[in-house]
Amino acid sequence: MQEQLMLSERLSSLGMLAASVAHEINNPLASLMMNLSFAQELLRGEVPPEEGLQVLREAVECSQRIRDIVQDIKVFSRPDEQDSGPTDLHRVLDSSLRMARNHVVHRAQLVTDYAQDVPRVQGSEARLGQIFLNLIINAAQAIPEGHRDEHEIRVVTSREPTGGVRVEIRDTGVGIPESLHERIFEPFFTTKPEGVGTGLGLSICRRLITQMGGSIRVESKLGRGTTFQLHLQEAAAVARVSSRRAARPKSGLH
Ligand code: ADP
Ligand code: MG
Repeated sequence: MQEQLMLSERLSSLGMLAASVAHEINNPLASLMMNLSFAQELLRGEVPPEEGLQVLREAVECSQRIRDIVQDIKVFSRPDEQDSGPTDLHRVLDSSLRMARNHVVHRAQLVTDYAQDVPRVQGSEARLGQIFLNLIINAAQAIPEGHRDEHEIRVVTSREPTGGVRVEIRDTGVGIPESLHERIFEPFFTTKPEGVGTGLGLSICRRLITQMGGSIRVESKLGRGTTFQLHLQEAAAVARVSSRRAARPKSGLH
């Protein structure tokens, strides 16, 4: 039963992933195709060579975008059940946010607030990615469409004073009534229409996080929003790294 649950959730997140990937690759691919036909005109001498530079620049950007997307898919599909880290948390969070982009983009502003001194964590990239993707898509689905400017999904990381790392995924969506705060973690509990929710996401999230030695809990106010708070273990005996993506002044680097 447990294995079946894992498989079924894996398939459902694979489905979400496939939809996101197709959507994400489509735009840069369409631009690339346009650039390609322009390049052919260029080669035939039908347009002046100096116009070629811009086309080349765009083609490079599109190719880079597609390369990044393929890199993200690798993060999510690597069969690394045995690999328990050390994992660069911010890298996995950024991949998950990119994968969830088309769920988020019409509903909320996305804000990341990453601490600079976050150590690498316990847990494989694939599993952490699966957890974050589910939490971010849940957050997006809790926000009604069409009020993008009033809503926010915020991802916050910090180092726990007592060791380990805290990740918070906060949304300003519909919230969860207090009476359901435990039930949402039960397998098959869902308030979503058929085809949207399986009710498996949070039960799997909790189990995976527990296996990594971490924990997950929810804080929520009806009509105000929800925060999922994760506690993750610092990877054992691994050098501390600061985030590559942390926004800090260049002069402070050395
Ligand atoms: P599913 O998303 O397939 O319904 P989950 O296990 O991921 O299954 O979530 C279970 C239920 O918990 C959801 O149906 C929803 O009612 C509630 N829920 C989860 N995340 C949020 C959130 N960020 N805001 C409001 N409700 C949420
Ligand atoms: Mg879900």
